[in-house]
Amino acid sequence: MNSVVTKVAVVGSGIAGAVCAAALARNGVSVTVFDSARGPGGRMSQRRELSEDGKELSFDHGAPFFSATNSDVLDLIHGWEARGLVAEWKENFGMFDPITKKFVDFEKEGLSKKYVGVPGMNSICRALCQEPGVESKFGVGVGRLEWLEDENLWSLTGLDGQNLGHFMGVVASDKNMVSPRITDVTGKAPPLDMNLAPKLDGKLPDIPVNSCFALMLAFAEPLSSIPVKGFSLKDSEVLSWAYCDSSKPGRSAMSECWVLHSTMEYARGVISQTGLRKPSNATLTKVAEELFQEFQSTGLNISQPFFMKAHRWGSAFPAASIAREEKCLWDKKKRLAICGDFCVSPNVEGAILSGMAAASKLTEILCCL
Ligand SMILES: Cc1cc2nc3c(=O)[nH]c(=O)nc-3n(C[C@H](O)[C@H](O)[C@H](O)COP(=O)(O)OP(=O)(O)OC[C@H]3O[C@@H](n4cnc5c(N)ncnc54)[C@H](O)[C@@H]3O)c2cc1C
Repeated sequence: MNSVVTKVAVVGSGIAGAVCAAALARNGVSVTVFDSARGPGGRMSQRRELSEDGKELSFDHGAPFFSATNSDVLDLIHGWEARGLVAEWKENFGMFDPITKKFVDFEKEGLSKKYVGVPGMNSICRALCQEPGVESKFGVGVGRLEWLEDENLWSLTGLDGQNLGHFMGVVASDKNMVSPRITDVTGKAPPLDMNLAPKLDGKLPDIPVNSCFALMLAFAEPLSSIPVKGFSLKDSEVLSWAYCDSSKPGRSAMSECWVLHSTMEYARGVISQTGLRKPSNATLTKVAEELFQEFQSTGLNISQPFFMKAHRWGSAFPAASIAREEKCLWDKKKRLAICGDFCVSPNVEGAILSGMAAASKLTEILCCL
């Protein structure tokens, strides 16, 4: 396509939506990205915090890194690397055995290349959402998608009832766009009624999810007793992984920042008591204390942090993949693609593959109009 011909709405600026939007724009399709969050990235976000004494801190509180084996994905990653958006995180990783108090499995944990966004995990999505032909609107949640039969177009309405415009095609990059589970969280109906896409109805079940709590910690001094920059915790019921966020390339070395991830079982236990709605500050404080206590119980000489805050990821990892072959759901007649990690695999690579597949479906059809 030689010139910009049409408009597609991409709902969600996580890596699936951002990759899809940029690919569409590069093929001459003009795109508007909407995200209810304040910035891009979704589960590849970076969180900015201010300590009590005014220190600026940032944490990759979602995905700490990503790896890839698919050659198309690797091509993309190498392109991002060349633009300075991505770098390899070349540190030692291992597993901590609480019985022997030793770090083991260095080789296994270090096997795959670990990539990170620079200077934060969100930098890739941010750059993709700023590419020519992509208009991005953050803090704008899509509340309703309607198909206008006579006009052969989609009409989008914001969560506050505002008109977001008419679009020839739509990409929904979050399963909550159609999941009844969202009603338990927000009290509202999902934005997309699957009766509008009868061909896809039944292909998108209520996907089970695994949750996770992330604990952000900042220390005045490096934790010098820890010989690795990321480690799993063997047999812990509370903590699964710990990462030294500030050891990633391009991060500030002013403070030593760590991010700990809870086990899915621990998160499930807390959510079964507190419910799906946004957790209270009291819940997050209790979770922070419990995760930190488990970190200290390793006996690794962990000093007191000057900053500590927990975050809940209610839908951290989809527990099913619904379109491994096709990589996205697609209704050609209505020009509707549904993509995200839940289509392929519960990681960044799966989300990228799904976003690429959605872009290719739309490009194919919009080319011929
Ligand atoms: C704690 C944690 C650790 C992880 N560790 C790893 C790891 O080590 N390696 C790895 O590869 N992956 C990891 N992952 C998984 C990885 O982050 C995800 O697989 C990937 O980021 C999913 O991208 P996505 O675009 O499919 O979805 P998301 O990033 O969830 O993007 C969906 C976007 O849609 C937006 N949205 C939803 N509804 C609406 C609406 N109605 N209107 C507007 N916007 C809307 C959301 O705000 C969000 O930004 C981890 C995730 C978490 C949470």
